[in-house]
Amino acid sequence: MTTLSRLARWQASARHLKQEYDQVQGMGTMVTLRRARALAWLGVPLHAAIAGWLSQYQAAADQPKMQAWADALVGLQAGVALGLLVFGLLAHGLLRRKAGASVAGIVVQTAFCATYLAFGAAAAIQDVGVGNGIATFLVICMGTAVVSLMRPGFSAPVFAAAFVVFWTILRSSAIDTALLASLQIQAIAVVLMAQLISVMTWHQYTRTVLLQRKLERSNASLLVKQQELERLAERDTLTGLYNRRKFLQLAQQELDRRVRMPSGLCVLMVDLDYFKRVNDQYGHPMGDLVLQQVATRLAANIRSTDVLARIGGEEFIVLMPNTEPAGALNLAEKIRAAIGGQPLELPGGLRVAMTTSVGVTGLQANQTAPLNSLYSAADQALYSAKAQGRNQVVWGDVPAP
Ligand code: GH3
Ligand code: MG
Ligand code: MG
Repeated sequence: MTTLSRLARWQASARHLKQEYDQVQGMGTMVTLRRARALAWLGVPLHAAIAGWLSQYQAAADQPKMQAWADALVGLQAGVALGLLVFGLLAHGLLRRKAGASVAGIVVQTAFCATYLAFGAAAAIQDVGVGNGIATFLVICMGTAVVSLMRPGFSAPVFAAAFVVFWTILRSSAIDTALLASLQIQAIAVVLMAQLISVMTWHQYTRTVLLQRKLERSNASLLVKQQELERLAERDTLTGLYNRRKFLQLAQQELDRRVRMPSGLCVLMVDLDYFKRVNDQYGHPMGDLVLQQVATRLAANIRSTDVLARIGGEEFIVLMPNTEPAGALNLAEKIRAAIGGQPLELPGGLRVAMTTSVGVTGLQANQTAPLNSLYSAADQALYSAKAQGRNQVVWGDVPAP
């Protein structure tokens, strides 16, 4: 691989990485602002208490350095308490206005980190003066790296600035050369380590958020597919009515229910008369539209407790719970009139007059019969309606068991 093509690949993966970082920037800023707000609520009283305690501090008479250390830290601790309060309130305001994922959010986040790091550097210098190491700087750098989610483009200048501040104050403080060199090396190590941890934390965060989003997306599309499959399993695709399978399931449920609560139950089957002629004359697509319109008229004429399904090409079935034979015959006539009474309106100004034959059957409250007996009794009645000249309703009894 040539250097040029390697360079192009690096460029492409850097672009890709930048796109990924851009996608999670808003959320990362919001998470950091939430953490900063929590940290502020904890840190403000803590730093204020330390400032109060240090202001009362009385070093022994032979320990002037300790007194100077305490005096210098009072101002720093009080200052950082105030800084935390301001940034905590700013973060709170942005989060409440749901504006955390904005440029203002990034500015507050970065300023918050910079302030805390500057405090860490200044406090550490005071510690160095009394012979302590740079533990304060170390803790604050590491803490910032872990708590604040910053993309490398932000964290690098922030940590670099913290380092420059620390280095400058360190050089200007009156400590001996060997100690200065040692502290400088430690400071370099601390800042590099903090930067590394910050990059790793950010990168890991990006991976997790993107993976989570991908999972959410695929879950949502799976749910849509599952709902579609469920719909296909129980609905007829042309008319949207229940299919035969679902009808048989619901009818069986109703039969089981009326074992405990006896009531009348009727079934009617509707078949379009000479439907084949519609297909032959106007074509199958028009035939499909006729079937859809018939389904609409059927649905408009039944009760919400009735179960309507398409069980075959141009055959429909209605289950009527809590219905006596007289009521079922009434509905059958109503359906016959609803379809036969007015021609169906098809595109192109076509008007197609259709009639239907209806077979009705049913059980009195005190009768029982299996589902297939009801089904074949309705089918027989429909057959009779056809045989007797079509466009009529015929009742058929369910044979005694
Ligand atoms: P009858 O009065 O005896 O019921 O006569 P018919 O022509 O209605 O009955 P037949 O059983 O001879 O024909 C039914 C026709 O229904 C034949 C078939 O092509 C048509 N068909 C079945 N399913 C569909 C469909 O989904 N779309 C269309 N357009 N036609 C269908
Ligand atoms: Mg027919
Ligand atoms: Mg038929």
